[in-house]
Amino acid sequence: MNDLKYAKKLSEQDPLAKYRQEFYIKEDEIYLDGNSLGLLSKRAENSLLDLLDSWKSFGINGWTSGNKPWFYLSETIGEQMAPIVGAEPKEVIVSGSTTVNLHQLVSTFYQPSDKRTKILADELNFPSDIYALKSQLKLKGYDPSEHLVKVKSEDGHTLKEEEIIAAMTEDIALIVLPGVLYRSGQVLDMERLTKEAHKRNILIGFDLCHSIGSIPHELSAWDVDFAFWCNYKHLNGGPGSTGGLYINKRHFGLMPGLAGWFSSRKDKQFDMDHELIAADDAGAYQIGTPNIFSMAPIIGSLSMFNEVGMAQIRTKSLKLTNYLMELINSELDGHGFIIRNPIEDHKRGGHIYLEHPEAARICKALKADGVIPDYRSPNGIRLAPVALYNTYEEVWKSVKILQSIMVEEKYKQFENKREIVA
Ligand SMILES: *Cc1c(COP(=O)(O)O)cnc(C)c1O
Repeated sequence: MNDLKYAKKLSEQDPLAKYRQEFYIKEDEIYLDGNSLGLLSKRAENSLLDLLDSWKSFGINGWTSGNKPWFYLSETIGEQMAPIVGAEPKEVIVSGSTTVNLHQLVSTFYQPSDKRTKILADELNFPSDIYALKSQLKLKGYDPSEHLVKVKSEDGHTLKEEEIIAAMTEDIALIVLPGVLYRSGQVLDMERLTKEAHKRNILIGFDLCHSIGSIPHELSAWDVDFAFWCNYKHLNGGPGSTGGLYINKRHFGLMPGLAGWFSSRKDKQFDMDHELIAADDAGAYQIGTPNIFSMAPIIGSLSMFNEVGMAQIRTKSLKLTNYLMELINSELDGHGFIIRNPIEDHKRGGHIYLEHPEAARICKALKADGVIPDYRSPNGIRLAPVALYNTYEEVWKSVKILQSIMVEEKYKQFENKREIVA
């Protein structure tokens, strides 16, 4: 159970093992940071080179020529991405970034009335989301300290759906929550929360940054109003890769809060008229000219996700994280690590979250020994063995390396301080 032979056996039975070869992987490094920045695959590289080539070949005509005309690229990648989130093709568009898309969606869907003026979020959310919500409240003339309601976490790591539901009071106009919490990796029950929000006539949207490509979604069936995400984490779209968003088709036809000429119906855009006729699907939420090369790698990357399907990815991801937790419990016992992610499969996302008072320098020691973790200030270590390119042997080796770092106190050679990017 705790030896390398067992890990090898798990890999032999792994139906996704062959995908590892599709990625650029350094053989002397174990990359467990795919939840922060996914690795480059050859397919993603090829789709980027393809589009670079279309610029070379077509110049301005690339907007409408070649096999991937740039003018329609946000839409075509949106269609390709829709199955990953359980949406219809026209409900998804690739555009903007997480934070920009959140601004766009809140500008559109936050329509305070006399009685309903507040936005409901949570106190564990990623800072960028909170900054965006606060600035949106200010733009509408509300004081965020009163009108941004943050559901509290009892244990400092997870949220209780019952408490979120209890906070859905009559003064709430809009709810924005994560699908998977970025630290503890807790999966929120998006279906249940949506149902409860709608019972109270509140619109609800989710940030899928840590859930997309890691767990399956059924956004249409759950009737979620909107969602937004980045594509550089589990979806391996590359640093700063263009983000994505979902609009429930019930809301098609609204004017986007932040309009631009790419919000236009495609056939009207080049009329250059000063009256915007917005697209009647998720495309309306685009603003300006798409960043073609920042979305190009997503095409190749998504082809793998669609080939495999989210169900298989989730199955392997759960096996990897289960195995990692088992080894942490058996091999690191007594070394002061606390597992802070939910243990149950249905509540656990794609990564493991450990706490340790020496986390910053333990992460530095791991890097020095060839394991790439993700440090979260002040005392968090995220470890993400991902389904498409990590192996059970890597999980086993990482824990063994961590064990030697603790036993030999190798972390003491480093300062217990975070780096500029962590
Ligand atoms: C990664 C992440 C972001 C990043 O936002 P960008 O606009 O892509 O920089 C925002 N929110 C959450 C929850 C994230 O995990």
